[in-house]
Amino acid sequence: MKIKKGDQVKIIRGKDRGKSGRVLQLVPRDAKTLVVVEGLNLCYKHLRPKKDREKGQRIMFPAPFDLSNVMLVCPKCGKPARIGFKILTDKSELNREKKQRICKKCTVAI
Ligand SMILES: [Zn+2]
Repeated sequence: MKIKKGDQVKIIRGKDRGKSGRVLQLVPRDAKTLVVVEGLNLCYKHLRPKKDREKGQRIMFPAPFDLSNVMLVCPKCGKPARIGFKILTDKSELNREKKQRICKKCTVAI
């Protein structure tokens, strides 16, 4: 998975194009993963009054959108980055291979 919870991402499509925010949640759905970003892609959910005296409410919430609409912002160079993977062999863990994300711009592990 390229994007993780807590990552800073930039939106490249949709109404919030160009804005960035922090990943709050990754939502697996069918073959793809949706992403919820703090303060972005805000939608209203309308709630009907349940009781007589209650008012209907509008609740604002960040709606999930497709992972392909976001780009990871590299914390090192601060730019929206394409991600590569580097395979590391960790000798301490029975030679298990580890994937490390790297920024293709500055080639630093992130
Ligand atoms: Zn970078």
